[in-house]
Amino acid sequence: MARPTGSTGTSTGTRGSTAVVNIGSLVTNDAGHGEGPLGLLRDAAVVFDGGRVAWTGPAHQAPAADEQFDAAGRAALPGFVDSHSHLVFGGDRTEEFNARMSGRPYSAGGIRTTVAATRAAGDAELHANVARYVAEALRQGTTTIETKSGYGLTVDDEERALRIAGAHTDEVTFLGAHIVPPEHAGDPAEYVRLVTGPMLDACAPHARWIDVFCEEGAFDGDQARAILTAGAARGLVPRVHANQLSYGPGVRLAVELGAASADHCTRLTDADVDALAQGGTVATLLPGAEFSTRAEWPDARRLLDAGATVALSTDCNPGSSFTSSMPFCVALAVRDMGMTPDEAVWAATAGGAAALRRTDVGHLTPGARADLTLLDAPSAVHLAYRPGVPLVSAVWRQGARVV
Ligand SMILES: [Zn+2]
Repeated sequence: MARPTGSTGTSTGTRGSTAVVNIGSLVTNDAGHGEGPLGLLRDAAVVFDGGRVAWTGPAHQAPAADEQFDAAGRAALPGFVDSHSHLVFGGDRTEEFNARMSGRPYSAGGIRTTVAATRAAGDAELHANVARYVAEALRQGTTTIETKSGYGLTVDDEERALRIAGAHTDEVTFLGAHIVPPEHAGDPAEYVRLVTGPMLDACAPHARWIDVFCEEGAFDGDQARAILTAGAARGLVPRVHANQLSYGPGVRLAVELGAASADHCTRLTDADVDALAQGGTVATLLPGAEFSTRAEWPDARRLLDAGATVALSTDCNPGSSFTSSMPFCVALAVRDMGMTPDEAVWAATAGGAAALRRTDVGHLTPGARADLTLLDAPSAVHLAYRPGVPLVSAVWRQGARVV
């Protein structure tokens, strides 16, 4: 396969224009640019100028560019937007996974294993881990990735996790309320005071978002409300781990507080579905978690039919979903969650952008960030049609070819 020549791969400031031509099937995610909700264009081209998309349209009308890349009829789509991952961790939970696949159910308590390993890890080890998984995701077409703290659970360890995350991505979430750590097990209220007080003071400058694991065995609705409200008062925007293992108040709390996203949404009442459909909170589904815990699938069809905005994400973490592959999540969503291939592709790109309140990613129209994933396939439907096959053949991020 031909690689582009010239300045591709240098800094955005010095990069010229690149035309990706002869795209057999292009997902623009703009209904004004092509057919259907994906704005699908056949025989298309995209022109990048520096780090931005300058032009999108039929290949035969493409303006001249400094460089040209021939997509040879393959399919292109916006880089995946993975709006939910937990990449700052130490250690490994192979044994737990192996035991669970031998019949033991998953519980939130397994997080404590990773907390101990993360506290014991040095900064260099944690940086290397995050860099490794961000690169792994990029090779699978992910050009925007959110990641969280939540395995430190002391003031210093949470602040450290956020600083490390911030060196690898702009989308950083403070998750001091992942679980109550063992040293506070006898007095969870004291831990909530720590999270909403000194820990928030130390962490707020390093994060954009605040998250809570609202779940039996983690934090109840009142605790989650106190934590999210305190974070919002410091300028952090809420997102919530909601309704994963049990029915509960998480989803409705997320909608009530104007959270950007309610994540998991596996166990929903009709009232939860209505709240998501009527509010501005995105329902982010994380099928890797159900896959890796042999749990019941979230019902994407029910959410879509009600009118909710649905995103797909990996939840990449060492305990319950150790995948960084958005193509894998697309395949699961189509096979097991009632989504059409088009809906799953939208949810993994534009849906993720909505969950991160980003308007510059998740689409390929002029002005967007020049993040493009090229598949070794004639259509993005192949992401679901050919599960487990490494279809990503090239990736541009901010106009630079990175894969
Ligand atoms: Zn998570």
